[in-house]
Amino acid sequence: MHIKNGKGKHINTKEKTNKQKVIEKFKNNRNCNGCTKCCEGWLSGNIYGYKKYTGRPCHFVKSDGCSIYKKRPQDPCRSFKCEWLINLDIPEWLYPKESKVIIKKENINNIPYLRVVEAGEKLSVEILNWLLLKYINDGTNIVYHINNGKNWIGSKEFVELIEKNEKK
Ligand code: SF4
Ligand code: SF4
Repeated sequence: MHIKNGKGKHINTKEKTNKQKVIEKFKNNRNCNGCTKCCEGWLSGNIYGYKKYTGRPCHFVKSDGCSIYKKRPQDPCRSFKCEWLINLDIPEWLYPKESKVIIKKENINNIPYLRVVEAGEKLSVEILNWLLLKYINDGTNIVYHINNGKNWIGSKEFVELIEKNEKK
């Protein structure tokens, strides 16, 4: 099917969007596949004495991936798996390399929650909507970082704990 956009140009609606391509690529077979988002400094860690944190990528990350891949340490490198990789409740289109968001599972006083971290771009409205629906539909507790600000939604108990923690 062809339709015209506002400039009168034909758009082939059969052409696949990036989002559709990602969904098809990873269906039932998720792997990092060239993503290095967790190495790029959006998450903190210490690799052989070199610290990584927001604004400071891992000392060993290069444009084509990890330069010490076979010698990368167990913690954090081998053991870290983002939620997109292991949790099929997280949709394919949130592949970190494309969506520019990393989702981690964390706990506060044994209450689990998802931590959602911007990884190169401001959280999109689409992702914020998805987070809100996730909370509404299954009660998932969520902390999300946007423009360096920390925000949260979740159960009363979870919200009280986070707020208490923030005041410390
Ligand atoms: S952010 Fe997730 S998908 Fe990307 S490299 Fe890390 S574990 Fe793999
Ligand atoms: S050592 Fe390699 S796998 Fe570990 S954070 Fe650095 S680039 Fe990523």
